[in-house]
Amino acid sequence: EMEADGTIWMNGEYVDWEDATVHVLSHGMHYGTGIFEGVRAYDTEEGTAIFRWEEHLDRFYDSAKPYDMDIEFSREELTEATLEIVRRNDLDSAYVRPLAYYGYDSLGVSPGDCPTDVTIAAWPWGAYLGEEALKNGIEVKVSSWRKHSSSQIPTNAKTTGLYVNSLLAGEEARRNGFEEAIVLNKEGNVAEGPGENIFLVRDDEIYTPGLSESILDGITRDTVITLAEERGYTVHDNVSISRGELHTADELFFTGSAAEVTPIRQVDNVEVGEGGRGPVTEELQTAFFDLVERRTDDHEEWFTYV
Ligand code: PMP
Repeated sequence: EMEADGTIWMNGEYVDWEDATVHVLSHGMHYGTGIFEGVRAYDTEEGTAIFRWEEHLDRFYDSAKPYDMDIEFSREELTEATLEIVRRNDLDSAYVRPLAYYGYDSLGVSPGDCPTDVTIAAWPWGAYLGEEALKNGIEVKVSSWRKHSSSQIPTNAKTTGLYVNSLLAGEEARRNGFEEAIVLNKEGNVAEGPGENIFLVRDDEIYTPGLSESILDGITRDTVITLAEERGYTVHDNVSISRGELHTADELFFTGSAAEVTPIRQVDNVEVGEGGRGPVTEELQTAFFDLVERRTDDHEEWFTYV
């Protein structure tokens, strides 16, 4: 459940949590015409820091492009708004959610003169799949739902409407006793999780589906690829991964701003490797948390201090 308290930034103004409301006839409510980001701010030894804010902001503006959505706030304005809501809400660590959507004017599918409303909220959010998941991994199910193909909808744009597919896949998995889903693309290859990218380890090399596999170009994906390469691993990040390879992998893990680095210990009731958090996953997960909590001074360029 959400914090129901604090300040939310809405179209240039700081408003009380309960006043951050939307008209029921807003375009985005009816047609899923919103784009958003999910960003984390970490409680670091040098204060609260937003991780890879610039890259999230890049993707935010890029996501708006296919929908011809005009975000009339500058990078500087959105950055200041974000820093300010983290401060005003007194957050040491936070999940930050920028959102832009076609608002209230008319309800043809064509957005016509609908405004592009922009909001930013922040609240505390612990481990997305639970603390236990970070340590011991999760049990996942390959979904019977396929991911939309990038030829049907721009899957590289983080669009609100796309998450109907994520909900179907995730809830199907949970109804069947699993913790999360893996979603195949239209070709039947491994795409990603409902809100995570996926990595596979085999014989000490690392594999992750390429950007042409109808995935979101995850920022944590990029972080983990960078950390792995810096530690001498070969990373194959432009490959197709077949469903069967999930079962023969030594290790599997999910990445995401919310999910961070979450090991996968079982796929469709079959153990992955030894069936826990594998050694490569653990090494990269440790490197990730050491980085984001600033126990190292690597990649200072990835941090925006509040
Ligand atoms: N794929 C999907 C579908 C997602 O929703 C997310 C979360 N934004 C990711 C991958 C991971 O992306 P990131 O690491 O940028 O959070």
